[in-house]
Amino acid sequence: MSVLVSSRRAFLLVTLLALTGLGGAQTRDPLPVPDVSGYRTLKCDFHMHTVFSDGEVWPVTRVAEAWRDGFDAIAITDHDGYHPHKEDVGVDLTRPLAIAQRAADQAGLLLVPGVEITKGNLHCNALFVTDPNGFGDLDLTAALQRAKSQGAFVFWNHPGWKGKAEWYPPIDAAHKDGMIQGIELLNGLDFYAEAYPWVEEKNLAILANSDVHRPIGMDYAPRTRPVTLVFARTADLKGIREALDGRRTAAWVNGQIWGPEPLVRGLWEGAVKPEGSRLQLKAGAAARQMGLRNYSAIPFQLRITGKPAWLNLRATDLKPESVGALFFSAAKEAPAGKAQVAIEVEVTNFHTGPNRNLSATIPLEIEVTP
Ligand code: ZN
Repeated sequence: MSVLVSSRRAFLLVTLLALTGLGGAQTRDPLPVPDVSGYRTLKCDFHMHTVFSDGEVWPVTRVAEAWRDGFDAIAITDHDGYHPHKEDVGVDLTRPLAIAQRAADQAGLLLVPGVEITKGNLHCNALFVTDPNGFGDLDLTAALQRAKSQGAFVFWNHPGWKGKAEWYPPIDAAHKDGMIQGIELLNGLDFYAEAYPWVEEKNLAILANSDVHRPIGMDYAPRTRPVTLVFARTADLKGIREALDGRRTAAWVNGQIWGPEPLVRGLWEGAVKPEGSRLQLKAGAAARQMGLRNYSAIPFQLRITGKPAWLNLRATDLKPESVGALFFSAAKEAPAGKAQVAIEVEVTNFHTGPNRNLSATIPLEIEVTP
């Protein structure tokens, strides 16, 4: 978001370039996330900068970072009219894309062409532009019209970065003209609660992006950088575009998920498996446990919301790629025999709308013996 970053750090660039890049012995984080109801779940970051605007890294470094972090797709979105390194690298915004494209092809990463339309406090990323140049001298409306004429997918960046966000008149006009299709509900670690209702009201795709300017490791520890999850029919640029147009996205930041109910339910169903479906309990006896395995890199925080009155039940949180547990005991007065029980849980870190979290059911057969 910052267009005025100190350039004093730029002298570190050469050193940093020597330490990064695809040639090193780094390994890729598998960052497991399940596919959902026939869609491929792609891990994406659609907002990042390089030295071709006010970023501090060469374009290939963004590819190397994303590859190491387990991402499937990125967009390099340098500012349209702000080029503090122009004496060294010029102002042609096709260059970062061309340079990154070669590295992305080698790494097997998808690169979405983009540019950050930067007008005062209102910034929008235009993805899938055919020419990232020529936006800098235009006002917001003209720039968005240019993006539209190129068939771009446009989202409003960091709506609350200058204070509480409002649905500003220029944004409203652009949205009504079909020139804004998405919103950064999170930029970095910042969540804009006031913007959350607009996702449904204005039919916007949810995005969460790093907006990284420095080398990513200086701003984010491993597995903490924002992820836009894209639920695509095919793992290619066409698939990403179709999913964005279909609003099939979710935000994943800091162990929390924001997205449409059916899709985030699919994440739960694909990632979490009970280690058993039957349980025997002796009425009045000590608790027994059943494992709940989380196959994904996403944590799950559970709150029990529904169970039979005679059943005492406690759940642990499910850490990434680990086994949590449900602890069961039957009360002394529990009815003897087999019962089909639906355990209802609220996944408190999975947000399906403003003040709404995912609820899910774990079906079990419980046999109580006297
Ligand atoms: Zn930015």
